[in-house]
Amino acid sequence: SFHKSKGQHILKNPLLVDSIVQKSGIKPTDTVLEIGPGTGNLTKKLLEAGKNVIAVELDPRMVLELQRRFQGTPLSNRLKVIQGDVLKCDLPYFDICVANIPYQISSPLTFKLLAHRPLFRCAVIMFQREFAMRLVAQPGDTLYCRLSVNTQLLSRISHLLKVGRNNFRPPPKVDSSVVRIEPRKPLPPVNFKEWDGLVRICFNRKNKTLGSIFRQKSVLSLLEKNYKTLQALQLSQDGSSNDAEMAMAVSALGNTLGDLNMDADEKDDEEMDLDDANAKSSEFKDKVLNVLKQGNFEERRASKLAQADFMHLLSLFNKAGIHFS
Ligand code: SAM
Repeated sequence: SFHKSKGQHILKNPLLVDSIVQKSGIKPTDTVLEIGPGTGNLTKKLLEAGKNVIAVELDPRMVLELQRRFQGTPLSNRLKVIQGDVLKCDLPYFDICVANIPYQISSPLTFKLLAHRPLFRCAVIMFQREFAMRLVAQPGDTLYCRLSVNTQLLSRISHLLKVGRNNFRPPPKVDSSVVRIEPRKPLPPVNFKEWDGLVRICFNRKNKTLGSIFRQKSVLSLLEKNYKTLQALQLSQDGSSNDAEMAMAVSALGNTLGDLNMDADEKDDEEMDLDDANAKSSEFKDKVLNVLKQGNFEERRASKLAQADFMHLLSLFNKAGIHFS
């Protein structure tokens, strides 16, 4: 019997399993991390391709079934099973992650992996189709969102395979896609908290102009509060965070992004509070709007900004002493 809440949809198509393993480019020297091995259809081929497999499985009955499957075979001494919730356990060293995961953990898992150190070579993961399309979305695409911008800052992402729901037993309600995530080395020199702070504000109303977003009273008062705090502390920031700080900020991020309803924090444009009219003109407001003017950002919209644009905007803000964390 399968548990819906654990997202237990078993891959039944052996050709598809072969294709995933082949596209992942596992080397015979690799330690492979598998998440949610279930009954072990993928695990078996990972064991044949790599040096060893560490499999993290939540369901104790699946763990037993998995161990029983490989017991007494030459593969068993190269398999280590960890029983537990992958989001709660410390991950061991691995070269490559290959997994057919339960979709409800997509976002926190992606950022947990990207926060893991040392960085792995790549992760080849089955996601719900829409989540996969958000990961790869480019400026101007309908699905381009905070998830796209943040994951693409930290990694190169490519779409590998479309997978129909009938490849699984029982079939899930949605189609799937296999995606390759390759962490960037070195990581771009940004303070990730600052970066996400800016991106979050911009995507909160992704089709509004930045000019109107940064005229909102709530946004201005948040930024002014940060500004005054930093001035009071006389903190001089160098603009980039160290790797440990970066990893912490990245792993925290996954929990702030919903998986299935990723628009949850994008508000309806119609609904936009009319507080821009109320925001009093002030010295600080002028300071913020001047930054936008400086980079010609006033009439631009988050939905069409590329990574380099966000970087540029962040550096202009930071130069003016305006911070997002
Ligand atoms: N890999 C198998 C396959 O392709 O046939 C099964 C994939 S099934 C979609 C997801 C598996 O992840 C299930 O075995 C489920 O018990 C397990 N799982 C669910 N939540 C988990 C979690 N938080 N940590 C680790 N494993 C989890």
